[in-house]
Amino acid sequence: MTALSLKNINKSFGDIRVIQNINLNIKPGEFVVFVGPSGCGKSTLLRMIAGLEDISSGEFRIGDRRADQLPASERDIAMVFQSYALYPHMTLAENIGFPLRLGKLPKETIHKKVQEIASILKLEHLLDRKPGQISGGQRQRVAIGRSLARDPKVILLDEPLSNLDAALRLEMRIELAKLHKQLAATMIYVTHDQVEAMTLADRIVILNNGEIVQTGAPLELYQTPVNTFVAEFIGSPK
Ligand code: ADP
Ligand code: MG
Repeated sequence: MTALSLKNINKSFGDIRVIQNINLNIKPGEFVVFVGPSGCGKSTLLRMIAGLEDISSGEFRIGDRRADQLPASERDIAMVFQSYALYPHMTLAENIGFPLRLGKLPKETIHKKVQEIASILKLEHLLDRKPGQISGGQRQRVAIGRSLARDPKVILLDEPLSNLDAALRLEMRIELAKLHKQLAATMIYVTHDQVEAMTLADRIVILNNGEIVQTGAPLELYQTPVNTFVAEFIGSPK
């Protein structure tokens, strides 16, 4: 079974091709990390999977359906942005519950779901605060919490820890790994940080210039890099 399938995916902005011939199948529950240098196309690829960016050519399937034939409400994909993108005038509870309010669910259902998410992410004691009254790490937790509100099958995270300091990044990495186990959701995580990639991924996809250079389990890439780009990026012994 396949959660997501990308076949010959290309993306151009004007005359400039930024994603070239991507072929990739992602299994349900897999934790996949897209890694590569700045500008290599990681965010563009993720945004296409999220449905936030048109695909220039190729076939993208979610489960066994073509993504372009699926209504937005049936995509079951949530995205966490690097910038958090929280609503400053809303409390944390309102931020986390916002995707459910859009779905016009009963107040009690929303309340229960928000409590459940807050407990998973250790935010229970902060729910009445606003984003301006909490730390950066807590804001990132809220952004992740909001992405969980609709029980998505697939969660996309674009450099979610890049605005945090090193100690907090390590802590959040451990929490994200736990969260993945607990939710059993498919996750795609974008980073330019090879340590994050090596520690979080079931499978790493290394990108360069809009192309996949190699995919494999962290140890596999470390031990058998296909070229010096991968070896240097992953830090394999020479
Ligand atoms: P990454 O996330 O790996 O840093 P991006 O996906 O953001 O890379 O960008 C890949 C390439 O596409 C870059 O050269 C970037 O300048 C270009 N690009 C991204 N978004 C746009 C856009 N909306 N219009 C034109 N070029 C873009
Ligand atoms: Mg990016």
